[in-house]
Amino acid sequence: MGRISTRNGETAIHDIIPLEIHGIDEDRLNASAISIMQTLNEAGFEAYLVGGGVRDFLLGNIPKDFDVATNATPDEICGLFRRARIVGRRFQIVHVRMGPEVFEVTTFRAPHQDDSNDTEARQDANGMLTRDNVYGGTVADDAQRRDFTLNALYYNHKDRCVYDFCGAWQDAKAKQLRIIGEPSTRYREDPVRMLRAIRFLGKLPLTIDPATEAPIFELGHLLREVSSSRLFDEVLKLLQAGHGADTFELSWEYGLHQVLFPEASQVLEANTESTYWDLIEQALENTDARLKSGRTVNPAFLYACLLWPAAHQRFQQLLAEGLSAQDAMRKAGAITIDANSATVAIPRRFAQVTREIWELQLRLPNTQTRRALAMLRQPRFRAAYDFLLLREHSKEIPAGLGQWWTEFQAAHPDVKPEREQPDDRPRRRRRPFRK
Ligand code: ATP
Ligand code: MG
Repeated sequence: MGRISTRNGETAIHDIIPLEIHGIDEDRLNASAISIMQTLNEAGFEAYLVGGGVRDFLLGNIPKDFDVATNATPDEICGLFRRARIVGRRFQIVHVRMGPEVFEVTTFRAPHQDDSNDTEARQDANGMLTRDNVYGGTVADDAQRRDFTLNALYYNHKDRCVYDFCGAWQDAKAKQLRIIGEPSTRYREDPVRMLRAIRFLGKLPLTIDPATEAPIFELGHLLREVSSSRLFDEVLKLLQAGHGADTFELSWEYGLHQVLFPEASQVLEANTESTYWDLIEQALENTDARLKSGRTVNPAFLYACLLWPAAHQRFQQLLAEGLSAQDAMRKAGAITIDANSATVAIPRRFAQVTREIWELQLRLPNTQTRRALAMLRQPRFRAAYDFLLLREHSKEIPAGLGQWWTEFQAAHPDVKPEREQPDDRPRRRRRPFRK
């Protein structure tokens, strides 16, 4: 199956896996993704399906999304699709919208040259790439810029073959996660690859190649250099994608959770028997179950659970210092979220809800009927009640109050939470009508 492709006199040996062997049935692939490839092919460009769409399919999972790689530049891609726009700075991609779905179309990356300019390629003192936009490579070059071999299998709609440039097909058969290139260098270029590694281990039936695994224990601290807003998104992908409970355990084993949530992890580490462990594990199991049954999950609730060990400890300290319970919880919430924003920054609209979930814990014990009815109308009641159940389940507080609220809700089925207050984001002003 070996072939040779050439570019600038360099050679890259690759394997071409025919349909009879890979068995990817186009009828079971996403029709819009195929039509994107067709459009690109018809305009004279190469186009391949790559990444999770191919990987998950070969491993017997249902792909979550489909990514296309092409030799068309972002501007050329935008010229071919009506609903396309360039997103990202560190790594530019094009979002192509087809119906309700969004597809990521990326231009082949080329290896970085010493004369690459600043907007194309940029690296900081740790070796981290802060720009990775050198275009003009071949599909073989593009494969070398991807993270794991399984994510670098290219399905070509034109000949229905899968192209492999890095031993990915063998890894797929062996169900092995292996990073492309020298592992430490690749993690230094982009430390998020360590989080991606454990995400794939949590969701897929894979083992990790020892050379891919070893540096993670040493280099986890590099995540501190990654932008805190990117880490917010990555944590959601890690823990709110259906395999949160397993992935949490892995992130702890590899020491990555400790980097992302230093204070909360310190409390967990100092109290190996603590109820906080149960609270987080149960919350993640519930989240996985909710997602499996097609229900939505709320990032603010996840963060309320992840940061609770730190917030609760601080609350108790502030109480001991003489603050009222309300003041102590308000202050503990604010400081805890602020302290963690050095690594993972929770956007304000979520942080506000996280704090409300904590603060309502102090009001739930007030079961006087008038107050309790007002509580049912609280937009955050449901989240606060779920959080209370978790605290009881983990035995942080004695059981009983949760049951009381369950019965109270059943007795007042007509009392619903009020609609959320409009947030404080500035409204777009309507342009005055002009004749
Ligand atoms: P998922 O099923 O969760 O979408 P995925 O592998 O498709 O998994 P994406 O974030 O959609 O993940 O990325 C698409 C592809 O882009 C990856 O499969 C990989 O080839 C490449 N990629 C993504 N992030 C990185 C990275 N940080 N470094 C190198 N390559 C990356
Ligand atoms: Mg994907």
